[in-house]
Formats: sequence, structure tokens, C-alpha cells
Amino acid sequence: MENMKFEEMGLRENVLKGIKDMGFVTPSPVQSQSIPIALGGSDLIAQAQTGTGKTAAFSIPILNQIEKNGEIEALVITPTRELAMQISDEIFKLGKFVRIKTVCVYGGQSIRRQCELLENNPQVLVATPGRLLDHLKNDRIPNFSPKVVVLDESDEMLDMGFLDDVEEIFSYLPSNRQTLLFSATMPEQIQKLAHKILDNPKYVKITPANITNTDITQKCYVINEGHRDEAIVRLMDVFTPQKSIIFTSTKKEADALAERLVEAKYRAGALHGDMDQRARMDSIRAFKANKISILVATDVAARGLDISDVSHVFNYHIPLNPESYVHRIGRTGRAGKKGMAITLITPLEFKELKRIQDEVKHSLELEELPMYEASHNELVQKILKTKIADEAMDIYNELIDKHDETNSVLKLISYILKEGSKNKIGPNQQEIKRLQEQENKPKNEDRGFRNSNRRDFGSRNNSSRGFSRSGGYSSKERR
Ligand code: AMP
Repeated sequence: MENMKFEEMGLRENVLKGIKDMGFVTPSPVQSQSIPIALGGSDLIAQAQTGTGKTAAFSIPILNQIEKNGEIEALVITPTRELAMQISDEIFKLGKFVRIKTVCVYGGQSIRRQCELLENNPQVLVATPGRLLDHLKNDRIPNFSPKVVVLDESDEMLDMGFLDDVEEIFSYLPSNRQTLLFSATMPEQIQKLAHKILDNPKYVKITPANITNTDITQKCYVINEGHRDEAIVRLMDVFTPQKSIIFTSTKKEADALAERLVEAKYRAGALHGDMDQRARMDSIRAFKANKISILVATDVAARGLDISDVSHVFNYHIPLNPESYVHRIGRTGRAGKKGMAITLITPLEFKELKRIQDEVKHSLELEELPMYEASHNELVQKILKTKIADEAMDIYNELIDKHDETNSVLKLISYILKEGSKNKIGPNQQEIKRLQEQENKPKNEDRGFRNSNRRDFGSRNNSSRGFSRSGGYSSKERR
């Protein structure tokens, strides 16, 4: 099934024409596995991340079944407005020769306007859960009897607290429907939901190994807790990425880091769920148009972002699961370009790294954070750009009291160079090796070692106090 061509799937001519018009030549793995199942009429659970071509995987079978019987024949439920718009756009483009009408409804847009669009006899409705439920409860959707219902990014609906709405939506849907559930990960609540709303589903899983991309160089730098922002600024200085996404775990982290980067004179912006729709769209547009080169985002907010020229992806924390790791790093190295994925890791997170390595079958070497050595020219530019501090004049007067001006300046530059070279962040390679060996020791031995080497673990114990990843957080976008 892997290598099935679009032409061999038994698709209608006008659907094939649309696929060709989009420039799709070969089906992606999720497409070659899911489309035949969906065309066969079965319910489907597809575990696939953004970037795998999942939108077309459900849009193509929808388009193939459109009869134009005056009803809304297909419904796609998706968590965010951005995704709703992207999906609606992709269905519209793929359906160019089927000549279908799609309508997109989401919160924040005028209800009246949406009602007008719904009156217009669309065949496909793409909607976010809250607004859809509102329309359904108020009986505002005429001719509504979808034969196919898609639940897109189901795990994100869970994370965003939409699961109750989604369940309620299903109470308004015809029971003789086909249901296709797409999700990047399959947490227990999604499995339970699937059990309730799907009938004898077939299962497709695009495993991380399927999509781990050899065009992506993966790096892992060991730091101590509390130095993440500084480490990111250092890595920006060292790698000078063209266009990067930094994934943080919380909205607060995203804001603080974006601010820190702007302070360090980088063109950075935040993207998270607490920003209003306009601010989110502004960030996305600015990033797409290269007005900012760094997007600091939470997983949820960055879901579905379709940007093909990201050169670097940074993980501010190691992600909570392998799927999320693969999903995030898959934002770079797209369309045949090379990309780099950089993960910051503290000794406390070594265990999580091991789980990821085991799943993606790719070994990640732990490295010490590189030092930044500015070229002479850069240093000169930096000095020239520095604002003169209030106390500078006093120090200057004291210096030239004791030495002539040239001597004072030369001493000052030498001092800057010496201080700069002391600016080490995180453990060095030797310390990393020792921490790793410690991690790999069997439990009992580990305990004994810990007791007799208390000092060595001072930093681990300290960081465990401030580090609550394994403590309270469960959802991906933590507040
Ligand atoms: P998605 O995972 O649906 O967000 O898709 C990611 C990107 O891949 C979108 O820009 C799609 O237009 C594109 N795409 C989807 N299927 C194919 C295909 N078979 N060949 C080439 N590009 C595709």
C-alpha cells in the first residue's frame, strides 16, 4: 500500500486533476495508507503529525464522495481558527475541478456573516468546536447531514479543553456517518473518545521513524536549569540562524524569551494561546514575511503552521514525548532543504532523552554549549553600538588619572576579552560524561554513589527544586 499512486486509488478524474494541479505527484505515507481505507467506507484512526500531508489524506476522500445533493456532506472539526482556514483553503484548492463550496466557521467572526455563508448551500463545513456547537444548539445550520466527519488534531482539542464540546457535537451528527479521527499522539482520553464515536475503525500510524528526516542535523546541549534563556541567546550568536522556531513549554516562557531575544537585538516574536487572534496572526505573518526571524511558540499555538523555510528548530525543554519531538523538529529540513534541530537538556532530563532516542532510533550526542567568540569586527561593532552608562564617565576619569588614554582603552579591551572567555554556560564535556555514566548506573549502585558523592549532585538537587516538568504539568501548553 505504501507505494500506491494517486492514479491507482480509484479516484474520480476531477479529483485527480485537482491533486495534479496542487503539484502532488506521489502520495505521502499517511495518504497512501489512509485514502484507500477512507474510500472503502471504514472509520479510521490516523496517527500523524502536521507536515505529513494529513490534510489531503482526509480531504481527497471527502472530495471523491461529494454528490452535491444540496446538503452539507462533510464536516471537518479542528482546534484553531488558523487550522480551520488552512484546511478550508486546501480543500478548496484540491476541489477546484469538483467545484465545491466550503464554509469555514470559527469563533470571533460575526455569527450573522457565518449564517449567510451557511445558507449558501456549501458541501463542506470546516469548523472550530465552540462556534460549531453554538450554531448546532441554535439550529443555525441548514441542510446539515454530513456523511463524513473528520476530527483533526484531536490531541490538541484535548489540550485546549474542547473534548466536552466535541462529544456534544457528535450528539447532533447522524449515526450513519463515516468518522475519520486524526491525532499526532494518542493519549488515553482520545482513545476513549475514539471508542465512543468510531465504529470498528481501521488504524494507521505514521511512526516517528517514518518521518525522521535525514536532512535534519540534531543537536543536544547540556545546560543547568535557570540558564535556558542565556543558552538560547548564545546559540543564536553561534549559529546565526536564518529563520527559527523555538518551542517553549509555557506561554510565560515564550513571552519572556522573546523579550530577552529582542533585548539581545534579535528580531523575535512570541506566539501562544493567550494572545488574541489579531496578535497571533500578526506574529505568523511577520514570521512568514521574514520581518521577524525567530518565533518563540508553544506547541499548541504552532500547530499546523505551514512554513517551509525554517532553518533551525530549538527545544527550550526536551519535549514530553517522542511524537512531539519528531513533530517539532519536522518544522525544519522541509522540501529538500537542510535543517538543524537543537534541544536544550538538563541532567534531570537525560531519562526523557533516552525515551526519545529509543523511539526515534536516532542517537543524540550530548554536547557542551559552545562558546561564542566574536570576530574582531563584531566586537568593534558591539562596542560602538553600546550605550554609554551613567557611571562610565566616573570610571573613565579614574582610569585616565592613572594611565594615559591609549593604555586605559587597551586595558579595558583586554579585560572584556578575558571576561568573555569566562562566560561558560553549563557543564563541560568531561562533566557531561560523568553525569551520563551516573545516569546509566543501575539503581542500587546509583544510590550508593549519590550518598558518597553528595557534592557532585548539588546542581541536580538544586535544579530539581525549580524544575517541575515531572511534577505538576500534564498538558503541553502549560500556563
Ligand atoms: P499537512 O500535513 O496536511 O499540513 O501538509 C503539509 C504540506 O505538505 C502542505 O503544504 C501540503 O500542501 C503538502 N502536501 C501534502 N501532500 C503532499 C504530496 N502528496 N506531495 C507534495 N506535497 C504534499
